[in-house]
Amino acid sequence: MRYVSTRGAWADTPQSFQSILLEGLAPDGGLAVPQSYPRLAAAELESLRGLGYRDLALAILSRYIDDIPPADLRRIVDATYTAEVFGSEAITPLTTLEPGLHLLHLANGPTLAFKDIALQLLGNLFEYALATSHRTLNILGATSGDTGSSAEYAMRGKHGVTVFMLSPKGRMSPFQAAQMFSLTDANIHNLAIEGTFDDCQDLVKVVTGNNEFKTRHSIGAVNSINWGRVAAQVVYYFAGYFAATRDNVEEVDFAVPSGNFGNILAGHVAREMGLPVRRLILATNENDVLDEFFRTGRYRPRTSAETHATSSPSMDISKASNFERFMFDMGGRDSTIVRALWNELAVTGGFDLAGTPHWARVRKSGFESGRSTHADRIATIRDVHARYGIVIDPHTADGLKVGLECRDAAAPLVCIETALPVKFAATIREALRREPERPAAYEGLEERPQRFTVLPADAGRVMMYIEEHVAAA
Ligand SMILES: *Cc1c(COP(=O)(O)O)cnc(C)c1O
Repeated sequence: MRYVSTRGAWADTPQSFQSILLEGLAPDGGLAVPQSYPRLAAAELESLRGLGYRDLALAILSRYIDDIPPADLRRIVDATYTAEVFGSEAITPLTTLEPGLHLLHLANGPTLAFKDIALQLLGNLFEYALATSHRTLNILGATSGDTGSSAEYAMRGKHGVTVFMLSPKGRMSPFQAAQMFSLTDANIHNLAIEGTFDDCQDLVKVVTGNNEFKTRHSIGAVNSINWGRVAAQVVYYFAGYFAATRDNVEEVDFAVPSGNFGNILAGHVAREMGLPVRRLILATNENDVLDEFFRTGRYRPRTSAETHATSSPSMDISKASNFERFMFDMGGRDSTIVRALWNELAVTGGFDLAGTPHWARVRKSGFESGRSTHADRIATIRDVHARYGIVIDPHTADGLKVGLECRDAAAPLVCIETALPVKFAATIREALRREPERPAAYEGLEERPQRFTVLPADAGRVMMYIEEHVAAA
């Protein structure tokens, strides 16, 4: 398997998995995509049913990662997906709320959000790839909560990797801050910036925009556009499908709360590989760029000033970075189309597919969409609690709300749980007038000693800090 860019780079020199693993964007600003999706024959699909999560993950991932010797890849996968880290041997267990309605639990990893499933693997893949190429990597990132902690828990203690994570001082929930700041690993640096999340993102842009500094200190990122993350997420669509069906003739619908389009893109890839997925139901919150696209064909990213701060904050995005990969497929995997669309985006602030052959492809792609608001979230959390006796988090509630609107009798609906409610206690209190349950390992989290460095929103100071603490090459 080799990789090309959505915008045409590498067409004549397709890249190996390990070379795209440690890169951010392709040199032309595009995203790495596989040259083609491996299509599973019926017999192959049948052979996957009944596999445990680790064997399933190896079977799927080895289609995308063929430049790591199989025995090494097996060791990496086996070390990643353990009951110790993810709470059960199933890794992503499925529970049935009522006949034909299921919840796929993706949030039982170390930071209680679905991003752990991909990032825990990425941490081990990074360590492996850096060791084989005798390199070190300094990861610089900005977080408003979930991504940063998931990245830190994935990279803690990993050889060759040092993490510098910027967060807006005093603006994360106490639980989120405690999750990050209580890490004492020497390779994790929490920088609490006196400013907003946007300030933190701007600082990252300034520092990584300094090519000399970036190269000298091998600065990299663990952002949501890493193909390794998408590949890792494809696995749980297979696991969820097998758990919800009895044979490979049945089709299912998945409902996915979406922000950067990373999670649901993996569902699209699974479908392209031949998994019998009927519909992928995309749910947004009040930041409804993607719902607008799937309803009208118009893609119009927002500015950060137009982005609402909602009670499902991990979906508060203004533009969906992984969307470009989907558009590459909808344009017939033709990079000239992606280039033209993203050109138009840069010039006019959006594009409109209505009336084009690409829109006809989108209509046939199995996607549906809907939008959920704060009031919907509260009502859904209450309703699910009253009906089924369980508490779901606000993001999962967005997915369930839209999934139930689209549900019909022809296919079972699998709703994806992307976080545990304890991370969003204020919304749970508002909905249910009670505290969310806290997994035992997180008792007293906020009382643990915290380690972080306060810095002003000043790129010079951030660079100076990095310079003093980078991993020795
Ligand atoms: C990141 C995140 C999402 C959105 O996932 P995307 O891959 O960005 O679409 C949804 N819910 C939670 C809890 C998240 O952390």
